[in-house]
Amino acid sequence: MDLQLNGKVAVVTGGSKGIGLGIVRALIDEGAKVVNVNRSAEDGQRLQQEYAAEGKVCRFVQADLTSVDRCREAVQCALDEFGRIDILVNNAGVNDGVGIDDGPGAFLNSLQKNLIHYYAMVHYAADALRAHKGCIINIGSKVCDTGQGGTSGYAASKGAINGLTREWAVDLAPQGVRVNAVLPAETWTPLYERCLAAMPDPVGARQDIERLIPLGQRFTTIEEMAAMVVFLASPRSSHTTGQIIYVDGGYTHLDRKCTASSVSNFGSAET
Ligand code: NAP
Repeated sequence: MDLQLNGKVAVVTGGSKGIGLGIVRALIDEGAKVVNVNRSAEDGQRLQQEYAAEGKVCRFVQADLTSVDRCREAVQCALDEFGRIDILVNNAGVNDGVGIDDGPGAFLNSLQKNLIHYYAMVHYAADALRAHKGCIINIGSKVCDTGQGGTSGYAASKGAINGLTREWAVDLAPQGVRVNAVLPAETWTPLYERCLAAMPDPVGARQDIERLIPLGQRFTTIEEMAAMVVFLASPRSSHTTGQIIYVDGGYTHLDRKCTASSVSNFGSAET
């Protein structure tokens, strides 16, 4: 299927690693020009060079998105260089473990890391998206539904991202701009690897989590996340907006009693 993304301009936040990197690679594979806005520089610069050598565009913009000025500059940079933005993927974020006892200052900082830049990027890119009937894809998290404990700032941000996805879908429908969210649950990324590495038995912890993932008892890959994102970015999903889509192997919604391997025969016994 031709996803009709050839020549489209996509801005991806946090595109140097993990899910964002998967999205950047998939968009470029489909012919899009990508602007990758990322805090650390090394991986982003390497990606830019790697793709330039193939005649492809992965323009790196170094920015810490916790600064709204840097968000504005990143959008302006994309417009100065390419003259348009067709796709905005809000992806950068971190599960920073700011809980009830950490206080309002830490909570606000967590919102800066996980939420405010989603709004700022949309605010600064909105006119450009309206001009070409563009689209927005927000990367959320299952934590907005399940809770996790000890991570109030992240949970609040991810809940708000779902709300804003529907709010912006309503706002921008008259101009033909589609807005959707893609929610991971357990996707194998450097962030996840770091979290498990901090545990006493990282290998055992990984196996324990995998046993709970109904489809295949394995983590979602960054390529599986990216495949949904490029579809939503494509005119092939031209009548899909305001949707919150879980790419999680059934982790968030399916009945653990029936899907966890230790009780997977639940209900099958003859009486
Ligand atoms: P990751 O492996 O840590 O990659 C995140 C990327 O975003 C990194 O390149 C990071 O840059 C960049 N970034 C983070 N904060 C930034 C900031 N303030 N300014 C600029 N760049 C920033 O994370 P991931 O697992 O791919 O997560 C991506 C998204 O998926 C996040 O929104 C996360 O909440 C969500 N998510 C992931 C999972 C999962 O299982 N992995 C589950 C639920 C939700 P640096 O190189 O500077 O660190």
